Amino acid sequence: MIAIAIDGPGGAGKSTMARKVAKELGFIYVDTGALYRAIGLYMVRKGIATTDAEAVASHLLEIEVSLAFRGDEQRVLLCGEDVSDAIRAPEISLAASNVSAVPKVREFLFGLQQDMARKNNVVMDGRDIGTVVLPDAQVKIFLTASPEERAARRYQELLGKGQAADFTQVLEELKIRDYNDSHRAIAPLVPAQDAVLVDSTGLAPEQTIARLLDLIRQKLA
Ligand code: C5P
Repeated sequence: MIAIAIDGPGGAGKSTMARKVAKELGFIYVDTGALYRAIGLYMVRKGIATTDAEAVASHLLEIEVSLAFRGDEQRVLLCGEDVSDAIRAPEISLAASNVSAVPKVREFLFGLQQDMARKNNVVMDGRDIGTVVLPDAQVKIFLTASPEERAARRYQELLGKGQAADFTQVLEELKIRDYNDSHRAIAPLVPAQDAVLVDSTGLAPEQTIARLLDLIRQKLA
């Protein structure tokens, strides 16, 4: 099996790029952030503080998370319910970031992610795919962009969906998430030693995708 790991901070365009790369190569695209979001959503719905690691860990056994594919589109199931849309609410981003710092949560999702890569050729995106989940991935990419550019993309995305958004708030939340994700004790967001760094600041999506495909084809040749 072949695995391509794409890690990087929120809003760097990982999911858009990973989806396109997967389609081009005929691989399955696995969005691991959706798994953390599903757990965040569960806790929010239950009224559990997502910053309370002990409480979060103690509720994990009630949860069943799985991935299903509708064509090549990933759907996330939380205790059988398709929550793929609900997990995109902006308040779930921070909840996901909070629960993702809980070691038991990462353990809980580890097997599911590895299993996907054992059974399929995958393009998997996340924060710790190249470092922790798939350390033997044939290709590792760390995709980033400046915080302002990432916030601007998120902001446009929200407006595009008809949601009210405030640029300053989007930027602030993104910086908090960056900080959380890169400073947590377990599986922090850092490029794997053998990852190729791609900075998409100022690049059009087509330019980024072309760069990624070039890079992947070179590595797989
Ligand atoms: O990628 P996305 O923004 O959907 O991820 C939501 C949150 O889940 C991230 O801020 C991060 O804290 C967490 N996450 C993680 N490890 C992954 C994927 C996501 O910790 N592999």
